Amino acid sequence: MEIGHVRLVQREFKENGKGIVETSVALAGERPRYWPRLGFVVSVLLGLCAGLLAWQPGAAAAAPNTVYFPETGHTVADPFLTYWRTHGALPIFGYPITQPIDDQGMTVQYFERARFELHKEFSGSSSEVELTLLGRQLVGDRHDGPFKPFPANTLAVNTSDRTFFPQTGHYLAYGFKQFWEQNGGLAVFGYPLSEDMSENGLTVQYFQRARFEWHPELRGTPYEVELGRLGADAAANSGVKTSPVGKPANVPDYAPALFTQSIRLPILMYHQIGPTASRYVVPVWLLNQQLDWLQSNGYTPVTLTQLYNYIDGTGALPAKAVVLTFDDGTAGQWAAVQALAAHHMTGVFFIPSGTKALTDGQLRQMVADGMEIESHSITHPYLTKLSGGALENEVAGSRAALQKITGQPVDFFAYPYGDFNGRVIAAVQAAGYRGGLAAWGGAEITPGKRWQEPRIEVDGTDSMTEFAYKVITFP
Ligand SMILES: [Zn+2]
Repeated sequence: MEIGHVRLVQREFKENGKGIVETSVALAGERPRYWPRLGFVVSVLLGLCAGLLAWQPGAAAAAPNTVYFPETGHTVADPFLTYWRTHGALPIFGYPITQPIDDQGMTVQYFERARFELHKEFSGSSSEVELTLLGRQLVGDRHDGPFKPFPANTLAVNTSDRTFFPQTGHYLAYGFKQFWEQNGGLAVFGYPLSEDMSENGLTVQYFQRARFEWHPELRGTPYEVELGRLGADAAANSGVKTSPVGKPANVPDYAPALFTQSIRLPILMYHQIGPTASRYVVPVWLLNQQLDWLQSNGYTPVTLTQLYNYIDGTGALPAKAVVLTFDDGTAGQWAAVQALAAHHMTGVFFIPSGTKALTDGQLRQMVADGMEIESHSITHPYLTKLSGGALENEVAGSRAALQKITGQPVDFFAYPYGDFNGRVIAAVQAAGYRGGLAAWGGAEITPGKRWQEPRIEVDGTDSMTEFAYKVITFP
């Protein structure tokens, strides 16, 4: 395993075009410098054990099976939710405009562009959710003009641009054909019920479950073909209730990232910056080397706000993002602020608001220099050992104090000593934070771990090779 690990590190270095591997190999006879030190391995293992102990059942949430859409004030639950997500989501179906309702013994739900039907008899199969034939209902018995079918035995030559459907006697061609094929085809839209035709100045075509509209002015964009609002029309015609409902407790707002896989993004954790290297003290010259390395290898430090915007589906991240965090707000960290600012990089500083090792003026200057000031409690206690009132004070009080100093939102909380449990997480949630940071656990960031996202400790005695390993490879 360790041989494989070393190979992996070497490959990474070659890809980055750096000569670090040669330097390492020249130290033959000693313990190779790229070999993770025993102490490092032990501390990681201890960290993982502690992480497992602190793990709360259910806290590592899987993707939700019910979400709320604040845009229209409705919830969508599985299996409709999974169907909606996996068959085109917002662009194809639009927002939900009703709750699930009973229609003669069948559960249905209206969306802007479709009506979902739950077929319990097909539970677990791909036919469990089907879409109502709203296009068919709209076309009715019309067989005139563009609705007139060609005979089923029409001798048609199908090409990549044009397909004849004997099932309904209509052609599908060009841009509509491409859209139909790329966005779900028969299952989502059904067969064509007309030729393409002009209606209200638009080129449209009717399908069993949809009406395509061509917008030539938007050619080349995702909006070139739009779908008619057949679900909204049908809801209006049948008089179903579309008024919004309140957001239920414990149901998240819909965001695509709730369903994304985890990403690998190292959140590096520093403690003191000082003259003598030790596990918790990184010399400033070493920090500068590490920042140089990040810069020359294309890494971009981002804030936790940026990371959580990504997690919440409201923001993007650069290709090689990393978060640099500094715990405890010690006086020596002012040198880290200078180093970061000189590199035009941002860092996240977790400040115990009661320590005052960095002055209020320094904290404000850090904000002005692009740093993010976040909370690390007031007095840095073991939070799991505190009573409810004391816990609440440490969590909410530090947030209020830091916000008052900086005039900026304080949205993230790092648990002192990495000590947390479900009760601590609940207090952090209640205080209005957006997320919580653990003190170990690696580089795998997932939306479900938003109250205990893992970090990787930077040890002051790390070699540059070990630092690079933590950034590039550490799982
Ligand atoms: Zn701390």
